[in-house]
Amino acid sequence: MFIGHFGLGFAAKRAAPGVSLAILFLAAQFADTLWPFLVAAGVEQVRIDPGHTAVTPLDFVSYPWSHSLLMLAVWGVLLGWMFRTVDRRAFAVIAALVLSHWVLDVVSHAPAMPLTITGSTHLGLGLWNSLAGTAAVEVAMFAAGVWLYQSSTYAVNRKGELLLVALCAFLLVLYLGNLFGPPPPSAQAVASAGLATWLLIAWAYLLDRHRQQRPPPA
Ligand SMILES: [Zn+2]
Repeated sequence: MFIGHFGLGFAAKRAAPGVSLAILFLAAQFADTLWPFLVAAGVEQVRIDPGHTAVTPLDFVSYPWSHSLLMLAVWGVLLGWMFRTVDRRAFAVIAALVLSHWVLDVVSHAPAMPLTITGSTHLGLGLWNSLAGTAAVEVAMFAAGVWLYQSSTYAVNRKGELLLVALCAFLLVLYLGNLFGPPPPSAQAVASAGLATWLLIAWAYLLDRHRQQRPPPA
């Protein structure tokens, strides 16, 4: 799953308005921000296997540190604890977002999602076997999330509008490129592309500074 995670990050702004969108993105995508480094270091493994699923040629051979239920619970508690003071719901929302990555990836991935670091149980419902199904679910989640974000905040200047529109357009183009583009040349290329998530987090930080929480209707 890709933009579905970002959709959830956007949506979470309504639940914890004091938390920057950048932190919400980091939480929703924590597994995928960690993963490129672990692949580059050889700690986790991915293989290119064209046709592995309809959506992606990536065969996630091993990714227990970034993608197991156990570790995402641990990362969620740690990240939530780090930012616990910025909003009264920050801890719960951030921890839940980190963990949501596991749930959404179980829905989309082939049965490869680990429960623990060493266990042999791997889950995956394989939404990725259907290109149309994947696109429908993710685009709907993304649209709902953006709608919740833009309706619970307002732009304090032009930048607050433009950065949001440009971010959404960029994410959608990136997503369509993922769905319909050629398979990546190598696992290392995949890992490098994964670093783009950090750019999106920086973008969200800038955007969020030019928007403010909408006051509750009187
Ligand atoms: Zn993931």
